[in-house]
Amino acid sequence: MGREVRILCAHGVPPEMQARLREEIGEVFVLQSHEEEEIIENIKDKQVLVVRSKPKVTERIIDNAPSLLVVARPGVGTDNIDKKACEKRGIKVINTPEASASSVAELTIGLAISLLRQVYTTCAYLKQGNWTKGKYTGRTVEGKTWGVIGFGGIGRRVAEIVRVFRAEVIAYDPYVPEEEFTQREVKRADKLEDLLTQSDIVSLHVVLNEETENLLSREALTTMKKGAYLINTSRGGVIDQEALYQVLSEGHLAGAALDVYQVEPPADQNFLCLENLICTPHIGGSTYEAFANATEILVRKLKAIFGEEEKEPIGY
Ligand code: NAD
Repeated sequence: MGREVRILCAHGVPPEMQARLREEIGEVFVLQSHEEEEIIENIKDKQVLVVRSKPKVTERIIDNAPSLLVVARPGVGTDNIDKKACEKRGIKVINTPEASASSVAELTIGLAISLLRQVYTTCAYLKQGNWTKGKYTGRTVEGKTWGVIGFGGIGRRVAEIVRVFRAEVIAYDPYVPEEEFTQREVKRADKLEDLLTQSDIVSLHVVLNEETENLLSREALTTMKKGAYLINTSRGGVIDQEALYQVLSEGHLAGAALDVYQVEPPADQNFLCLENLICTPHIGGSTYEAFANATEILVRKLKAIFGEEEKEPIGY
């Protein structure tokens, strides 16, 4: 690849990613802050802007970036990028949703086992000097029905792992063709209600949109089996958090584990301190492996855009 591609990396883009972009794509410049003015000052002659969940890539930035061809987001969410403004100018927006599928799936499984075996509660007691052996009896995943809501990249990886535990997997996703379920020996639920009434463990892997917002409403949560477990590593907005607080306090659900919240960071300490709730601070995709995958996927996608034949300066 020629050295003509100039890449502006937002503050916080990891040094390893900067190094790979420098090796494989072009010249790398790094911002010192998320300030719009600093971005505007530096973006004029750059063809690529790399951002994480910050800063906001506003229409004003796009208007001041005459050479810009690509906004690259290593990771999933592109909500911080004004995609309409990019589209108007024919600027490509690329991301790497596939990079963290195993990381999120593995956290989902880890949270489920921690819930079923009360790992956090017994650990907290032991750290206070209390030996609670005999007081906490857990459950196995084996022999249970695990309901996967959203059968995309992460949902499918979860299903694959769960089958190794000798559990039955049932999945609900109206947008995925039948063969994706049959190939993986996963039972398809035609209605969300069917999955909720049959599953002992439910995990959520949907995108957040108008249709999935509050997908697990109070009605849906109370439709779940009494004593079932719920895990959400997708987006906080897909569960009615207030209703979840109620079903957990009332004991309708045995437990829940959340990595994501309606508002982040979550402020309701009463909710967070429920004994049958495990909460992590949106760490699903935060592994060294996911970052490394994101880097390689980004490099591959940028190479495909700025192919080897592209030796002339771009964007002038
Ligand atoms: P994906 O796009 O591959 O899969 C999402 C699936 O949801 C799709 O198959 C889609 O058909 C399905 N879906 C859409 N509307 C639905 C509905 N109404 N009912 C049922 N299914 C529906 O996405 P993915 O990469 O598997 O990511 C899944 C979720 O995990 C996303 O919300 C993503 O933002 C989140 N995520 C979280 C973390 C984290 O750090 N916790 C990291 C990465 C991704």
